Amino acid sequence: MSEFHLDFRDTATAFADKSDAVLKEKYRMFKMMGSPFLSGLGTGAARFALSIGLPIDGLVKRTVFEHFCGGETIEESQATIDQLGRAGIGTILDYSVEGRRSEDDFDATTDEIIRTVHRARGDANIPFSVFKMSGIAPLGTLERMSSRKKLDAKSQMKCESIHRRVERICDEAAKIGQPVFIDAEETWVQDAIDRLADEMMERHNRGRVLIYNTIQLYRKDRLQFLRESRKTANAKGYLIGMKLVRGAYMEKERERAAEMGYESPIQPDKESTDSDYDAAVNYCLDHLDEISFVAGTHNDESTFKLAERMHREGIANDHPHIYFSQLYGMSDNLSYVLAKHGYNVSKYVPYGPVRDTLPYLIRRAEENTSTAGQVSRELVMIKAELERRGVA
Ligand SMILES: Cc1cc2nc3c(=O)[nH]c(=O)nc-3n(C[C@H](O)[C@H](O)[C@H](O)COP(=O)(O)OP(=O)(O)OC[C@H]3O[C@@H](n4cnc5c(N)ncnc54)[C@H](O)[C@@H]3O)c2cc1C
Repeated sequence: MSEFHLDFRDTATAFADKSDAVLKEKYRMFKMMGSPFLSGLGTGAARFALSIGLPIDGLVKRTVFEHFCGGETIEESQATIDQLGRAGIGTILDYSVEGRRSEDDFDATTDEIIRTVHRARGDANIPFSVFKMSGIAPLGTLERMSSRKKLDAKSQMKCESIHRRVERICDEAAKIGQPVFIDAEETWVQDAIDRLADEMMERHNRGRVLIYNTIQLYRKDRLQFLRESRKTANAKGYLIGMKLVRGAYMEKERERAAEMGYESPIQPDKESTDSDYDAAVNYCLDHLDEISFVAGTHNDESTFKLAERMHREGIANDHPHIYFSQLYGMSDNLSYVLAKHGYNVSKYVPYGPVRDTLPYLIRRAEENTSTAGQVSRELVMIKAELERRGVA
């Protein structure tokens, strides 16, 4: 067996397509991540400033938006698609408009998601499309559906509209053979999302995987859910598509559980999340003929372990059932190095009007300040590269 070599500290590869000036700008931006300006994005003051038209859009656009998003439209994201494509990295166009509430808004978002599906058609640089159920459905209805209580007439109508929108996206994607991810959200709406995802997988994942659900391994129950999903799919004769992530709503989940007095669905500590994450990856590898999966993570160790086991077992780096995925603007040391070694890699490239992407940007900012180490990981990498180039 040839020797296994994968160096995620290879900053020359990670930043090959970034100029000194761009790298220095990114360094300043990550430094700012912990500052009051950025954490202030999530505060009432920032929202108020936006609502009365203070020009903070421009400031946000020139800093975090440019770093984490492709542009305000699909067309504006083209330069990013091209840049990633040149490095062998796929783009997943993520229409990141959140917080809209009317039925018309949900229909408009559905139309835009379908545009991303069509844009991906036949473009090797866009391997997947994605949508978030809360972008096309009222959270209250998703919550009522998840509680499995009987729906009143109004909720029933909204439920039917949600179903129609999900069908429109997935049926259209299936018609042109374009794989689609369904993102995972908070536990209290996830049951509805899972049931819709299961229905779409059962309909479209026959002999090939087009629909991917997402599991969050910070939840105590998801490894079991993964096993059950495979058994159900097996019994019903369809294939499973699964994006594996750790989960983005930990604080919110814990706070709600404490407030409402139920046991937190979240793992007791980071180690338990890490352990279930790696176990889920291994489970998918054990059943590679039945499951196509995406390791959606910035964690070096989980990424390395997966690549190492693929090597040990002689699984091709570009095996069509295995994808690595990161978010645009984060962990380029994983994405670019994996791509250089011929693994399947893609990045979520969020886009949308600046103020509508704020909730997404706030989550990234919080993650980069509260998640132990992510911001310093980015800073260490950029600094190492600036030093290597002799321009620090
Ligand atoms: C391509 C892609 C798609 C994604 N899609 C989704 C999605 O659909 N839904 C979603 O919720 N998130 C999604 N995420 C975000 C993801 O869930 C994580 O928040 C983020 O990637 C950080 O986790 P990590 O595996 O990269 O790495 P790490 O930095 O190693 O892990 C951080 C994560 O570990 C967990 N954690 C941290 N501390 C503790 C603790 N004390 N106890 C228990 N667990 C802890 C949390 O989940 C935290 O986010 C996605 C991420 C990527 C890269």
